[in-house]
Amino acid sequence: MAKKENKPKAKKQASSKKSPVAKKSSVKTSKKSPKSVKYTYLFGKKTDGDAKMRNLLGGKGANLAEMARIGLPVPPGFTITTEVCAYFYANGKKYPTALAASVKEGVASVEKQMGKLFGDASDPLLFSVRSGARESMPGMMDTILNLGLNDQTVEGLAAKTSNPRFAYDCYRRFIQMYGDVVMGVQARTEAETEPFHEVMEGLKKEVGAVLDTDLDVENLKELVSRYKALIKERTGKQFPQDVYEQLWGAIGAVFDSWMNERAIIYRQKYGIPADWGTAVNVQTMVFGNKGETSATGVAFTRDPANGENVFYGEYLINAQGEDVVAGVRTPHKIAMLSKEMPKAYKELLAIRSKLERHFRDMQDFEFTIEENKLYMLQTRNGKRTGLSAVRIAVEMNKERLMDEKTAVGKIPAESISSLLVPVFDPAAVKKAKPIAKGLNAGPGAATGKVVFSAAMAELENSKGSKTILCREETSPEDLRGMIASEGILTSRGGVSSHAALVARQMGKVCVCGASSIHVDYAKHLMSVGDIVVKEGDYISIDGTTGEIFLGEIPTVDSEVVRVLNGKMKPAKSYTYQLFETVMKWADKYRKLGIRTNADSPAQAKSALLLGAEGIGLCRTEHMFFEGDRIDSMRRMILASDTAERKAALAELLPYQRSDFEGIFKAMDGHPVTIRLLDPPLHEFLPHDSAARNALAEKLGVSSEFVAERCNALKEQNPMLGHRGCRLGNSYPEITEMQARAIFEAVAKVMKGRKPVKVMPEVMVPLVGFVQELKFQVAIIHRVAAEVMKEKGVKFSYMVGTMIEIPRGAITADEIAEVADFFSFGTNDLTQTGLGMSRDDSGSFLGKYKELDILAKNPFASIDQAGIGQLVKIGVEKGRGVKPKLKIGVCGEHGGDPESIRFFNDVGLNYVSCSPPRVPVARLAAAQAAI
Ligand code: ADP
Ligand code: MG
Ligand code: MG
Repeated sequence: MAKKENKPKAKKQASSKKSPVAKKSSVKTSKKSPKSVKYTYLFGKKTDGDAKMRNLLGGKGANLAEMARIGLPVPPGFTITTEVCAYFYANGKKYPTALAASVKEGVASVEKQMGKLFGDASDPLLFSVRSGARESMPGMMDTILNLGLNDQTVEGLAAKTSNPRFAYDCYRRFIQMYGDVVMGVQARTEAETEPFHEVMEGLKKEVGAVLDTDLDVENLKELVSRYKALIKERTGKQFPQDVYEQLWGAIGAVFDSWMNERAIIYRQKYGIPADWGTAVNVQTMVFGNKGETSATGVAFTRDPANGENVFYGEYLINAQGEDVVAGVRTPHKIAMLSKEMPKAYKELLAIRSKLERHFRDMQDFEFTIEENKLYMLQTRNGKRTGLSAVRIAVEMNKERLMDEKTAVGKIPAESISSLLVPVFDPAAVKKAKPIAKGLNAGPGAATGKVVFSAAMAELENSKGSKTILCREETSPEDLRGMIASEGILTSRGGVSSHAALVARQMGKVCVCGASSIHVDYAKHLMSVGDIVVKEGDYISIDGTTGEIFLGEIPTVDSEVVRVLNGKMKPAKSYTYQLFETVMKWADKYRKLGIRTNADSPAQAKSALLLGAEGIGLCRTEHMFFEGDRIDSMRRMILASDTAERKAALAELLPYQRSDFEGIFKAMDGHPVTIRLLDPPLHEFLPHDSAARNALAEKLGVSSEFVAERCNALKEQNPMLGHRGCRLGNSYPEITEMQARAIFEAVAKVMKGRKPVKVMPEVMVPLVGFVQELKFQVAIIHRVAAEVMKEKGVKFSYMVGTMIEIPRGAITADEIAEVADFFSFGTNDLTQTGLGMSRDDSGSFLGKYKELDILAKNPFASIDQAGIGQLVKIGVEKGRGVKPKLKIGVCGEHGGDPESIRFFNDVGLNYVSCSPPRVPVARLAAAQAAI
């Protein structure tokens, strides 16, 4: 385990007789179990931990401790550290020997504070056993409530509270959770419903109950005995009556849940390392199910969907824990609480602002009200949509809750792009009639085929179809389907339901709790009144308004884009103002330049609007596909001699020249890096025989000739074949034509009616040997001199190279002698450096992630330890020769925040990314610099 930061400092022990809980030391290796290690940390009257110790105590444990420290009402308990989890997995699921004593101590301490005993038949202390990793993984791991109830203690609880119904409600909940989570009594097939649920529904039907609250104490007793029978039948084992056996079973189940499928998928999706482990929190139970003066709820200090500074949340009266999230009953909006329990509501409002002032971020917290007394059960920085991340950071800065640098750091760079995504065309929406409306839980516009299962979503997704996953409510089992879908629609559950939470984090469009929709899984359809929507039909959902429409609705530019295009006044759009504030901050703090990859004037213009400072990669090959150009291109490729090739190239020259003119004009003086022809020639030729015949006819040659040439140009490994500067070296006339097109365009726009400043940077691809570059540079300089003379102008330009094969990086010192600049082509550098084809690695990368060989797709986020080192070597060697050498990166990685951090750290001058990524890159660059 690599976590030094938050480990308690090792302390010399005064006496080995001291209670193990009070001892402090650090675990060197998780295999060992020295007696001196502190395995449990108290929170309550005495609190050992604090918010900074999240690596050791998990996020939940650390913040429970922190809340206890600042005087918030937290039911006391203790946290078993994540180091125990690591030990557990390193030692065949055994615990360190000293843990047992440590847990006993923890229980004893809580017993003392509460004046109750664990397992006491007359007045039992009950616990919740809760997981809690470093990063919150909502609903991914298991929680057990009401632990410590058995056939005796339940009677004690009933007598003590004079509320037998409550006692048996707790007991049946406990048996259900314990039976499910610890004893593994679960649905055996996807079609089967959850067995405890089924038993309960059966009983409800028998006694004519609608809600679970309709069951009376006798019903609940019956339910308890049926649950026990179910456990016996399924497992052959009795539900355990010994409270310590219960406790250890629950602790083991929490540790086990770290490796369950849900948790593993979640970790993969969010790049959470498996060796972090989870902590276990054992906490005194408080009860929201004690009747009408009790409740349980979740709240956000601000609106997590749009970031507005309003109190946001929901609660259920007479309910426990998961009821709110699971959508069993529809919860009330938090504002209602001011009427139903005014005292508790006032307390909550005070806590809301105390939390924000203390944690200095939007908080997502859980609370329970037991007989009008409020308790805090959890707090964490709230997950939020991209829009709300931006709004909260900007507004909290205004409110002086965070300074600019902190605010910049609080906005995940990705989230800025959610301000730029298209929204439904307002005109089309006006015409469309919503068939239903739910809660606007994840903003944005999504259109796709309705699917009713995760499996179907994945299947459609694999076929390239967009889908909307529609469920009554989602559970962690639906995660794969949610990942595969554009949007998520549920008919039950509130704004803090699983669907809403997960969708917001993934940045998916989500409408939840659309209660007028009836979902029929068996018939694969949903209906609203007499409107029936079958699986595969198209629907559109608007996560900003909560509306659901039949069919596909077209989308239009977002407000930010409309303002940037001058189609809307900045003052009219608050979203734009937020965007502008954040971008100003980003530009203030970043050191990296931000360029764009653009091949056309339109792309160049849109990138400029988004803040690009130049073009880092202009690919010339795309220009050859338009209109008739491809014919000349093919004629050039099929030419049998130099003269013929030159003739074809002469046809291409004017096209290229005018393209460059357009781009230079659009870029208006900003630097433009133009890459010379790069792909293997075969890519330009027709692939099927009909197209080949047509080409033969056009060129006036036989189809056999065309077929023969096509075959001759075919390569086994085209990516390693005749491409890049190898083309320009075998056919110097290609480089000559391209250089001429570039420089003639320069001359033309310089002298045009509205003269434009131009800063061309000619870039030679795929250089591995300095000599390759030397030949190309010589041609380019010669042509530049010719054009200057012919046109009677003087212009400046640069000639540089891409560093995209390992030999180029390793001999960067030699190459720098000849190059005016470097641009790392990290796509090819990754491909050639890892020996992994970027087009074929899909077949094993998934498996590699599963096996933890690779944490991330190396083509999306740069492999820092490998390919990154090549970049570093290239930078060092290049700058060793030319200290001021301008160096950028133009691969896919130029738009990836984590890679950008790396490029910042190795001292590149700029990154170049696709136009829509420009704002993300600006923000990520600022974060890297801060
Ligand atoms: P998760 O990490 O999935 O949110 P939690 O550990 O927060 O799981 O537990 C789920 C729910 O169980 C909580 O939201 C809370 O309502 C309830 N719960 C947990 N601990 C207690 C407790 N000590 N007393 C009452 N309810 C609790
Ligand atoms: Mg929770
Ligand atoms: Mg390349």
